Amino acid sequence: MTSNETKTDVILIGAGIMSATLGTLLKELVPDWEISVFEKLGKPGEESSNEWNNAGTGHAALCELNYTNEKPDGSIDISKAITINEQFQISMQFWSYLVNHKRLHHPQEFIRQLPHMSFVQGDQNVLFLKKRFEALSNNPLFQGMEFSDDPNRIKEWIPLIMEGRTSKDPIAATKIDTGTDVNFGALTRRMFDYLTDTGVHVHYNQSVKDMKRTSDGLWEVKVKNLESGAIESHTAKFVFIGGGGGSLHLLQKTGIPESKHIGGFPVSGLFMVCNNPFVVEQHHAKVYGKAKVGAPPMSVPHLDTRYIDNKKSLLFGPFAGFTPKFLKTGSMFDLVTSIKPNNVLTMLAAGAKEMALTKYLIQQVMLNKDQRMEELREFIPKAKSEDWDLVVAGQRVQVIKDTVEGGKGTLQFGTEVITAEDGSIAALLGASPGASTAVQVMLEVIEKCFPQYRKEWESKIKEMVPSHGSSLMQNRELLRFIHHTTAKTLGFEDEGQENKKSKDPILQEV
Ligand SMILES: Cc1cc2nc3c(=O)[nH]c(=O)nc-3n(C[C@H](O)[C@H](O)[C@H](O)COP(=O)(O)OP(=O)(O)OC[C@H]3O[C@@H](n4cnc5c(N)ncnc54)[C@H](O)[C@@H]3O)c2cc1C
Repeated sequence: MTSNETKTDVILIGAGIMSATLGTLLKELVPDWEISVFEKLGKPGEESSNEWNNAGTGHAALCELNYTNEKPDGSIDISKAITINEQFQISMQFWSYLVNHKRLHHPQEFIRQLPHMSFVQGDQNVLFLKKRFEALSNNPLFQGMEFSDDPNRIKEWIPLIMEGRTSKDPIAATKIDTGTDVNFGALTRRMFDYLTDTGVHVHYNQSVKDMKRTSDGLWEVKVKNLESGAIESHTAKFVFIGGGGGSLHLLQKTGIPESKHIGGFPVSGLFMVCNNPFVVEQHHAKVYGKAKVGAPPMSVPHLDTRYIDNKKSLLFGPFAGFTPKFLKTGSMFDLVTSIKPNNVLTMLAAGAKEMALTKYLIQQVMLNKDQRMEELREFIPKAKSEDWDLVVAGQRVQVIKDTVEGGKGTLQFGTEVITAEDGSIAALLGASPGASTAVQVMLEVIEKCFPQYRKEWESKIKEMVPSHGSSLMQNRELLRFIHHTTAKTLGFEDEGQENKKSKDPILQEV
């Protein structure tokens, strides 16, 4: 081994929320393992995990209508909503553990409680929302949700959205006070500060260029130092590819059979941000609407209060867009170079199948500011163009693969963990529900890649995530305990006390 080669236990590629979470979990489970991180940018959390590149919604299916589909018999399927909610509670427990154990400080800088609302117009949508409310509100995970189709009541909740509304169409909304706004950028940076303090070698401006299996079963990772131009080799027993949009290219370089027949399709996002503090002050919620026909699920319009750098702001969007880049800082050749002999048919099949999506994206790209303002006015009828600026958000690379249900070239909207059969390498592809479920997804990586430690690590995992392996929906006692501890540790109780009582009905039960 020459001086510019190193050997380590674990290599994490990319310094986004996923690597931060996996690194922190491993540090708690096996503090003496050597971990190295390689990140091509100069800081952590600069791509999709950055606060300005995503919507900061703690996705718990409290307001996102795409997690509750209407079945052909007219009833509402809430199974996906339950899964997402339980997964978010896992993240909250782990963040709470990290704060409790002084790994993270000042939780209000990365998470705040904020009402989550759904808002719809038109007879059919009002009926759908009512049925959704009835299906969810009896479930302990969604306790405290309110429904109203009374414009006066809705005006009390969201005056900015109701002011100047002249349409006679029926409207309805649901509201639940225990939603969250999460600054995933701040959380990522905090976790990397902690990892650096505990001896993890975090290397910035270092881009991973290649990977191969060595004869002794390790992974050799070739890394380019973007400042000096030098190429270095690092070997590890386990590699996690957490490159966000960059993960697909890296996975393809591994040559593992599991990397074949998978493609990626980039969808970019744009938000409108309000620059008028007077308008910002009139809104206090995340309000999700219904996706337009043909729109992909991640393009559901929403108007969000955000807390970034202790400052309140207001974002509307996302508008979808298209560039062939897989990362915001990526290359115009990303899409083309991701097409390989083993995935070309999958990609072509997806192209033929997804004409509606292509048409939708073209329409979105062609929108000018006036047209975007028209969409915003469906939420804020009196919105003034001069109060709003356009900001470019992150890139999402949707996974395309062959599935039994969808056939060749099926576009996926969730996250996919791809692991080698022997568990020596894992990659995370896809972007939804994304950062909110980072802890559950990284626990899945640990389970798949380190089955030999399952027994040994179980009690520590339970200490960090008490609900691990159990259903919160079926264990009201545990649910109450978790709400109590997370509210206390993450500072929601202090926020609640400003209003003289806790906002969480689970905590008011005796
Ligand atoms: C518009 C938009 C809105 C979203 N809204 C939400 C939301 O409201 N709630 C939510 O939970 N999620 C949301 N998401 C999803 C969420 O942002 C992502 O799922 C999450 O940030 C992905 O984290 P990551 O660590 O996988 O990737 P990233 O944060 O993108 O990090 C990957 C890192 O890898 C680095 N990298 C890439 N290639 C290489 C290489 N070859 N060598 C070295 N480093 C490399 C990159 O520079 C980057 O820093 C949204 C995403 C978008 C785009």
